[in-house]
Amino acid sequence: MSSQDYDCIVIGAGVQGSFTAYNLAKNNKKTLLLEQFVLPHSRGSSHGQTRIIRKAYDEDYYTHMMEECYQLWSQLEKETNVKLYRRTGLLVMGPEQGDYQVFKSTLERNKVPIVILPREEFSQHIPHVNLSQGNAALVDTTAGVLYADRTLKTVQGQFQKLGGVIKDGQKVIDITPGSVVTVTTVSGVYRAKRLVITAGPWANTLLSHTGLQLPLQVIKINVCYWSEKIPGSYNVQHRFPCFIQLESEEAKHHIYGLPSNEYPGLMKICYHTGPETDPDERDRQTDRGDIDILQHYITRCFPGLVPIPAVVESCMYTVTPDDHFVLDHHPTHSNIVIGAGFSGHGFKFGPIVGKLLCELSQGEVPSYDLSPFRIRRFQAHSKSAL
Ligand SMILES: Cc1cc2nc3c(=O)[nH]c(=O)nc-3n(C[C@H](O)[C@H](O)[C@H](O)COP(=O)(O)OP(=O)(O)OC[C@H]3O[C@@H](n4cnc5c(N)ncnc54)[C@H](O)[C@@H]3O)c2cc1C
Repeated sequence: MSSQDYDCIVIGAGVQGSFTAYNLAKNNKKTLLLEQFVLPHSRGSSHGQTRIIRKAYDEDYYTHMMEECYQLWSQLEKETNVKLYRRTGLLVMGPEQGDYQVFKSTLERNKVPIVILPREEFSQHIPHVNLSQGNAALVDTTAGVLYADRTLKTVQGQFQKLGGVIKDGQKVIDITPGSVVTVTTVSGVYRAKRLVITAGPWANTLLSHTGLQLPLQVIKINVCYWSEKIPGSYNVQHRFPCFIQLESEEAKHHIYGLPSNEYPGLMKICYHTGPETDPDERDRQTDRGDIDILQHYITRCFPGLVPIPAVVESCMYTVTPDDHFVLDHHPTHSNIVIGAGFSGHGFKFGPIVGKLLCELSQGEVPSYDLSPFRIRRFQAHSKSAL
């Protein structure tokens, strides 16, 4: 085998590609992880300080996957002696009869420890938040914060310790499918028996080299940080939790937030959708409709925050029509595996997605039923060309 030949190539060193590469190396596969930008970078979906980890979901299969995923996060922490997770709990608020009931039932059915907060006791447990009229609230006590940038550094470091090779600053410009796949970057040509594509917002750009397009929409998220009027009132050290507001009078989509932590005195609160963007021109998208929604919501429900964002950063979601992931073989080239469309909720699943994409690429039976994540569910969709 020449140095340009690998058992497996993974394209894209975001959270999903990094965990996939790590799992492949753990399984003694000679693995190359290719990344278009010099690492670390802030132009995809996995950068930034923090993400929420939770078991609160509206589908059982996500909650089931999270059971094992928590163990995998903790295993990686032990293996590396790096703190990646901080338990804070997740406050779930929403109109009593809507999605809130679905979240509550999933949590109860799966015996996730929760605390229901009756309206009359709400402010005693969660000061500085106004629970909207007609809303109910509970806390998923297992939830917390993941340290995102630190995770990528850690998992990429472990991959390299296991003998894995990372080549960054190497944009893939061509893929030639076959029993041995040839991958051409701006500065090299590499071959492997198996290929995994985890290119985040650029998934369709890469898939176009393989004759496939998925119905993915790339959207820009304004990542907003809001100042505490009284320092410490929403602080992680004062045990303020993460939160999700399901529907609200301001918005159809979720609003979510994390306690002030990474930037002292600033709480991160974002809207769970945004305007469509070209991933190469993210910062040309200047729509601030999401910030208007957040300002109204914060004024009404988080009176202890200044309702003007103090810091606005950018990130992107790659969204499927049903908000579920794509974890599958390529429909015509079975040695190409795709992880895409993480729809703004994929980070917490990194360790399990990495394990599943590794299993798929090795032709093993995946540890979970992947039918919700199959490409064929899009067959009726006009944009997919299968
Ligand atoms: C603001 C925000 C908040 C979020 N909050 C949460 C949360 O609280 N909890 C949660 O679980 N999830 C959350 N998510 C979602 C989560 O972060 C994403 O689902 C996840 O990061 C997607 O990772 P990825 O590896 O698929 O994509 P990416 O991180 O974008 O990685 C893809 C990589 O592929 C590389 N690439 C692309 N094309 C090429 C090429 N041609 N050649 C070489 N490399 C290439 C890119 O440069 C990039 O590094 C959030 C996302 C955002 C934006």
